[in-house]
Amino acid sequence: MFRYRDRKVAKRIVERLKELNLEIRIMHVCGTHQDTLVRFGLSDMLKKVGVEIRQGPGCPVCVTTPMEIEEAITLAKKGRTIATFGDMLLVPGENGSLFDAKATGCDIRTVYSIGEGIEIAKKMDKDVIFMAIGFETTAPTTASTILNNPPKNFSVLTCHRAIPPAMEALLKIGELKIDGFIDPGHVSTIIGTKPYEFISEAYKVPQVIAGFEPLDLLMGVYMIAGQIKNGEAKVENEYKRVVKEEGNKKALAMVDEVFCQDDVSWRGFSHIPKSGFFLKEEFERYDARKQFEDDLDELHKKEFKEPEGCRCGEVLRGIIYSDECPLFGRVCTPDHPVGPCMVSREGSCNILLRYGI
Ligand code: SF4
Repeated sequence: MFRYRDRKVAKRIVERLKELNLEIRIMHVCGTHQDTLVRFGLSDMLKKVGVEIRQGPGCPVCVTTPMEIEEAITLAKKGRTIATFGDMLLVPGENGSLFDAKATGCDIRTVYSIGEGIEIAKKMDKDVIFMAIGFETTAPTTASTILNNPPKNFSVLTCHRAIPPAMEALLKIGELKIDGFIDPGHVSTIIGTKPYEFISEAYKVPQVIAGFEPLDLLMGVYMIAGQIKNGEAKVENEYKRVVKEEGNKKALAMVDEVFCQDDVSWRGFSHIPKSGFFLKEEFERYDARKQFEDDLDELHKKEFKEPEGCRCGEVLRGIIYSDECPLFGRVCTPDHPVGPCMVSREGSCNILLRYGI
């Protein structure tokens, strides 16, 4: 692993970037990439040679909407058991978090996998709902669980999302000039290289799929800069040791069998076309939104606001850096998060504060 952290090689790449003499802005959409960029000081290093890096909507907890949190809280208050990942419990909704609901007696469990949700359901007569968050990386596990005859009292509140439509949305909104994308390594392991190609073709934006070590990212940036210098816009794969052109065919087949893609809201965005994974009709007995439609009807007529003063939406669109939010590190900290970008370890506010600035 450490050959991907070789300081001499890193220095040489940065020198080459300097020689290219470019002023460019690159976006990535991955919490793990942000972690590496901040932890190893790459963002600052790159800024000095004309490369600005911004994090987009690449944290699954952060992009989950206030409505989805309220759905889970409402179902818990109706006596259902909610199982989900730990970070989701702490994201503040308009009327408190899942953790607050748990404190009032709701049965809300932290799990590390959907499999644990199944185990809980097997031991209970009550309905157990797994709040399934995440991108193309986690959607196959949900699909596989659904295909393996889960217990009758188990259902899923799907909050899975697809990354390429969000990248296109950023370009369409056009608030920020983006000269290139570093594509996420984990997501690409599943989807391969092809689903990004339309972005380069339609918007003339270079892309490089990159791994998570410092040299992966520096090489990714250098390859994007090379494309820009040569007037090219295509998808390249720096992470060939893991990402195959065709992706993971077995995982993709399960996702196709179980889910259809439709428009969905993301935090910080209005509806992004075809970016949400929803259970197909033949699996609706496992769809919590269909199973408990009556409990959610009133809720779906409402609109929920972001927490007062929180600028997570702008952080997720890359418009501002985390430390440009007036609440950053003062009112909003990991112990007292105001928004999801401070809750999740993949959120850019949490990462920036964790490694200290
Ligand atoms: S500092 Fe807190 S309130 Fe501000 S954008 Fe980040 S998470 Fe949201």
